[in-house]
Amino acid sequence: MTTKVSIDGLIQDEAAAKIPVTDRGFLYGDSVYEVVRTYGGKPFALGAHLERLKHSADRLAMRLAAPPADGLEPIIRDIHATLAAAGHAESYVRVIITRGSGPMGLDPGLADHPRRVVIVAPLQPLPGSWYEEGVPIHLVATGRVGGHTLLAGAKSGNYLVNVLALGAAREQGAHEAILLDHEDRVTEGASSNLFVVADGQLLTPPLSAGILEGITRHKVCGLAARAGFPVTERAIHRTELRGADEIFLTSTLREILPVQRVDDQSVGDGRPGPITRRLLADYRAAATARSEQE
Ligand code: PMP
Repeated sequence: MTTKVSIDGLIQDEAAAKIPVTDRGFLYGDSVYEVVRTYGGKPFALGAHLERLKHSADRLAMRLAAPPADGLEPIIRDIHATLAAAGHAESYVRVIITRGSGPMGLDPGLADHPRRVVIVAPLQPLPGSWYEEGVPIHLVATGRVGGHTLLAGAKSGNYLVNVLALGAAREQGAHEAILLDHEDRVTEGASSNLFVVADGQLLTPPLSAGILEGITRHKVCGLAARAGFPVTERAIHRTELRGADEIFLTSTLREILPVQRVDDQSVGDGRPGPITRRLLADYRAAATARSEQE
């Protein structure tokens, strides 16, 4: 099974797909992206992902396409065409829009036109043991100051803080890095959002912490409210993780992934807790049902 790549609508095998070295996504991380997965072969929550892509592009003062197009139509067309060309049962879909190429220089005005890339790979299922036993996470101090940075909430190609934090976590044998802000409050994972069950409450950091508004996070908040565990969005200090009964991560690819320990401290009794298990079952049921309806 091969990975297929569409560049400005031209679909090729991964090995043949090339972009110029002058592309600003390569030079400066001057790009925005989304990761979508399929259920039943259909892209899940595509509307929400495209809305976030547009929001990220707005934050970077970047267009998704050369005028007069608004940019979403060709992206949707390329996603469906690349999925069809790849023909996997379930797919991982990455959509990247770069500001384009141009003469060397930081000035965004040097860019020619946005470049549109869609990568479709076979979806690699995560090990079942991660869901049965939970995964370790590692806390990483980043010095991040609140949610008021220029890029807060945008999913740009500028992911180095997250890359370095994940590298530090992997060195400790952890699955995911949790980024702490300058006051040791929990923000989000390198590529996930975090939820905590403590004192009978389900908590998650607020968007004002400068986190990405996870599409899975949003869906989990809705499912949790319906299941009778409304989510409270509030700042969570790192010390609060110590007394937590349950912790879980959310992301498109992980769905809802239980956390077994935070550094060398076990979470609860060290087994995935009842709220985490209930929400994972509800999430999978909703995602599967949605793909059957569409
Ligand atoms: N935070 C960050 C920094 C991420 O990269 C991701 C993955 N896109 C998430 C949270 C989770 O977002 P989603 O549920 O939309 O995949």
